[in-house]
Amino acid sequence: MSDELCPLCGRPLGTENIDRHHLVPKTFKGKEQFPIHKICHRKIHSAFTERELLNTYHTWEALRAHEDIRSFIAWVAKKPPGFYTRTYTANDKKRRR
Ligand SMILES: [Zn+2]
Ligand SMILES: [Zn+2]
Repeated sequence: MSDELCPLCGRPLGTENIDRHHLVPKTFKGKEQFPIHKICHRKIHSAFTERELLNTYHTWEALRAHEDIRSFIAWVAKKPPGFYTRTYTANDKKRRR
């Protein structure tokens, strides 16, 4: 499965640090899950609330069109597939609304 691509950033998924994301949050009975980089997954959940995910960001297109996600994708594009850090999201609290 290593040639599968991440639906958020479009890079190969690789073999480590892979999570699954529910486009419709589990809290709202979402069942469909997609393999995604752990770091991309973390980014989604730090950028959006469950309510925002449910109401607006329940498609990959909507997620990728968001400004924060676009700059994240540009940043992560240069990293190896299994790359993961906790530090990147540290300043997310300052994000604009
Ligand atoms: Zn990714
Ligand atoms: Zn998720």
